[in-house]
Formats: sequence, C-alpha cells, structure tokens
Amino acid sequence: MLTFMGLILRENDRGETSKSITVLTAERGVIDIFVRGGRKSTKNASSTQLFAYSKLCVEEKKNSKDQSMFFLNSSESEKLFYNIRLDPKKTALASYFSELLMYIRTEESGCDEIMRLTLNTLYFLDKGDRDNELLKSIFEFRLLCEAGLRPALLGCSVCMAYEADIMHFNLSTGVLECDKCCYNPDSIYDIELDRTMLYIVRFIALTEYERLFAFKISERYQKKLTAFTERFVRYNLKGKFPSLDFYRLL
Ligand SMILES: [Zn+2]
Repeated sequence: MLTFMGLILRENDRGETSKSITVLTAERGVIDIFVRGGRKSTKNASSTQLFAYSKLCVEEKKNSKDQSMFFLNSSESEKLFYNIRLDPKKTALASYFSELLMYIRTEESGCDEIMRLTLNTLYFLDKGDRDNELLKSIFEFRLLCEAGLRPALLGCSVCMAYEADIMHFNLSTGVLECDKCCYNPDSIYDIELDRTMLYIVRFIALTEYERLFAFKISERYQKKLTAFTERFVRYNLKGKFPSLDFYRLL
C-alpha cells in the first residue's frame, strides 16, 4: 500500500457506479486512480472531488504492459478550496490550470516544485486577495519553467548586457538579446520587453516561492504580461484548453 498527498485535477466516470480521478502528486507526477463505487458511495466523496488536496492510500498493480495502475483504498481531505468551487470564474481558471498540468503530464518523480506552485496558486485563488489575471500569468509561466522550459533570461546572449531599454525575447530560440545585438527583430517569434516587463518576467521565472506571489503590477503591464504568458504557453504546448476559452467568456 502506498500513501501520498494528491491534488484532484479531474473526475472521470467509470461505468455505472465507479470513477477514476486524475491526480497531481509530488512523488509520481500526474497519475490516474480508480475509485471503486466512487460515483455512488459517500465514503471518499469529498476527498476525491475536483480540486481537493487529500491524503490518498492506494494499491499499485502492474498491467500486462508493465504500466502502473492505482486503486484507491482510503482517503482523507486536507484542503478543499471551497471558494474556488463557489465562483464560476475561479472554477474555470482552476480547471485551466488542471488542463495545463494534465497536458504536460509529468510522470517523473520529483514534482515537488510543480506541486508547490499549484497549491500556492490555488491557495491565493481561493483566498481571493490576488488578481486572477496575475495568478494566471504566474502559474502559466512558472509551470512551464518548472517543467523544463525555463528560458535563459540572465542577459543578452551576445554581449551579456543584463538589461537595456528594449530587450528581445525570441519564442522559437528561447534566447534573450538586447536591441543592438538582436539578430532578427522582425521574426514572428520576437517579443519586445521593456525594462519593467523584463523585470516581471525574470521575477516570475526565477524568484523563490516565498516572494513569488508578493507583487502587484499595473493594469497596463498586466495586459502585456497576459499576452506574453499566453503566447509562451501557445508556442510551447500547442494544445487546446477549453477551460481558458470558457474563462474568457465569463
Ligand atoms: Zn547585446
């Protein structure tokens, strides 16, 4: 029997009475767990519902292809993020975060940073004292950074200048260049960053978690940041995220 903490990202019906849950764990990445009778029984109902963060006790079995299959034995909820569930806009945003996590679907061990980022983001979304758009941008960009896509943002890749009035970030090469050194400023992948934007982007990519959510930006820079992080996600993941469209409609 294995025991770990997991965040429920999705519930799927399995037959008349059972369900499976897709779960983010620090130890095993994103996994599916079968919950026998989970659609009818009240036993594990609250701890296996969407966005619950729960202690899960599971049995691991191997199928004929040597893939792990998990079966829930018992569970106990630690945090339910009630306020997210009560607010349709927050629910849509949290569902988008789930879709991103399931799309990336890291199956390696050592998802501590991704788990930490996700729980922190949901905590502030639930609490409601941070701007939803800022939380979305932080989550989008930092998640991809933690998933191995952190760009080299330390300075111009040619002359090493730390900053300039205009710096260029190229989505396709993942490279930062100052205005003087920029090889292809007309590229469709080019994004111009002024000093403030470069500071914000660096901050989200690199700062420690204790400070990551402790900043505010103006509406003007939030618009720029939203455009930046959404382009970064679109370019790198190329997936469709229905919850993001739904969030935009609300
Ligand atoms: Zn340069």
